Amino acid sequence: MNFSDSEIVASVMTDNQYSTTQDHNEADVIFLNTCSIRDNAEQKVLNRLKQLQSLRKKKPGLIIGVLGCMAERMKTSLLEESGLGIRVDMVVGPDAYRDLPQLMLDAESGHKAINIILSSEETYADITPVRYASNGVSAFISIMRGCENFCSYCVVPFTRGKERSRDPQTIVGEARELFEAGYREITLLGQNVNSYRWLKEENGLATGFPQLIEMVARVSPWLRVRFATSHPKDMSDELLEVIARNPNICRAIHLPMQSGSSSVLKRMNRKYTSEDYKSRIEAIRRFIPGCAISTDIIAGFCGETPEEHQQTLDMMEWAGFDFAFMFKYSEREGTLAAKKYDDDIAEEVKTSRLQEIIKLQQKLSLKSNKRDVGTVVEVLVEGPSKRSPDFVSGRSSHNKVVVFPDKGYKPGDYVMVKVNSCTAATLLGEGISD
Ligand code: SAH
Ligand code: SF4
Repeated sequence: MNFSDSEIVASVMTDNQYSTTQDHNEADVIFLNTCSIRDNAEQKVLNRLKQLQSLRKKKPGLIIGVLGCMAERMKTSLLEESGLGIRVDMVVGPDAYRDLPQLMLDAESGHKAINIILSSEETYADITPVRYASNGVSAFISIMRGCENFCSYCVVPFTRGKERSRDPQTIVGEARELFEAGYREITLLGQNVNSYRWLKEENGLATGFPQLIEMVARVSPWLRVRFATSHPKDMSDELLEVIARNPNICRAIHLPMQSGSSSVLKRMNRKYTSEDYKSRIEAIRRFIPGCAISTDIIAGFCGETPEEHQQTLDMMEWAGFDFAFMFKYSEREGTLAAKKYDDDIAEEVKTSRLQEIIKLQQKLSLKSNKRDVGTVVEVLVEGPSKRSPDFVSGRSSHNKVVVFPDKGYKPGDYVMVKVNSCTAATLLGEGISD
């Protein structure tokens, strides 16, 4: 989401006589687009801000701005010179990027500039993102902003405000433009894409996510469509049917589980039980046989007993996830969990539970990849492999990274690849089509 927001920021700035640079030593303005989801994300930003201060000596007029969730959460405290030796000139929340040119004027005249007002309408629908760090093949399209689910551990509803959806015509228009510019894969982004809803005032008809993704899939059969993230409580059969009948909607669904224990899920305010979650996985398997399923897991949430942790491991084994993002619980100030529960799982216990989860996932990912060995997968080429220029790398519909010898392929080519071997993270093979 931040990556996508930074493209909006680049667009607002380039429309106002600024340009981007790859070298921070050249920059007159440096923005850090920040994440508050876990404490370590914030610590990284604070360290980076500390490092950047030395650039001020070389460039006295340098402006440093903090954008995004940390701006929203820490507000004016970021502008106060802290004991950490950090000086920040601008603090701009995620709904205030249109105001950047005005804020720049303030900062350039030596004043501290701040706008952290959250909006209930802003979707930046009319701003064409500048794809400044793109591979030219895959791009993100933001379809909605904010979240009102209030999972008890999560800071997002506080830093990104009310949920709002973007006009579908502007989304389809952006997808079409990307396709015409050579892009072949887009990911529709939102905190909870299943609650996407756009009401037409003329006739009172609503466009939901299943309709939207189908409209985007129809831009071209050569445009792959992905989405992130969907909340299990409202992952509908209707959406699964739409995916099943559109082969260019990728066979990979990210369905954050968080915990395999119904009692933990209740404390997390996730609004589903482990049985509900299981039935959604079964529905995915029924509608889209062979679909890859990935997830998010939090280890060591408040009050998690060894039995509850075991239920998470059991559910992982049962679901056989292809991939997972795994985290230690990090208490966030102001959230429901911080107010209601003690962060009572010792750090060593959180660490060892996370290690167990990671170890199990590695086994599951390897098993999933081994299933592909000997099969042929369609790969969208993204570019040269990082390891060797003689190889190219791309992704399968299952969102697996596939590496194979370069026979003159170009980014954006679709290549049928015979998978010969694998690791837990990568499939290795050879192209069998031109
Ligand atoms: N809207 C998305 C999640 C965005 S945050 C969704 O609901 O799927 C991405 C992931 O970060 C979450 O799924 C969760 O696993 C993790 N996360 C969020 N808050 C956290 C916290 N306080 N501590 C640890 N992990 C957290
Ligand atoms: Fe956070 Fe829950 Fe909203 Fe995801 S759905 S952003 S985890 S509150």
